[in-house]
Amino acid sequence: MDSFMQAAIDEAQKGLEEGGIPIGSVIVHDGKIIGRGHNRRVQESSAIKHGEMDAFENAGRQPARVYREATLYTTLSPCAMCSGAILLYGIGKVIVGENQTFMGEEELLRSRGVQVDVIQDATCVGLMKQFIAVKPELWNEDIGE
Ligand SMILES: [Zn+2]
Repeated sequence: MDSFMQAAIDEAQKGLEEGGIPIGSVIVHDGKIIGRGHNRRVQESSAIKHGEMDAFENAGRQPARVYREATLYTTLSPCAMCSGAILLYGIGKVIVGENQTFMGEEELLRSRGVQVDVIQDATCVGLMKQFIAVKPELWNEDIGE
């Protein structure tokens, strides 16, 4: 397991322990994590705090060059909102934990020149499958359904 994906999974697990949705993300530049986060929609009653958005918020203001050179790790395929932020800041590469429980905007990202690698990690799939089975209404709200 890639240590950065493991860090994203650790974030997802933190979110689950807080009663939230188990999705985590880290942003890596020059071999180190510059931002990390997890889905906090439930915890903060937020409309926008998906895991990736929380990682961006945590990374904060960065020179354009840093974001362009960065790799974003996320435990789940990024939705339209998070893909928008990825495109806005010109993130060059996205590593996705899994896209079996939810298929985000991977084709949009690729069409705009972002390298998207999906690893289909069993831990990431398991976290979401279990969560969706237990709290389907929270999950549907997360993806606007
Ligand atoms: Zn999202």
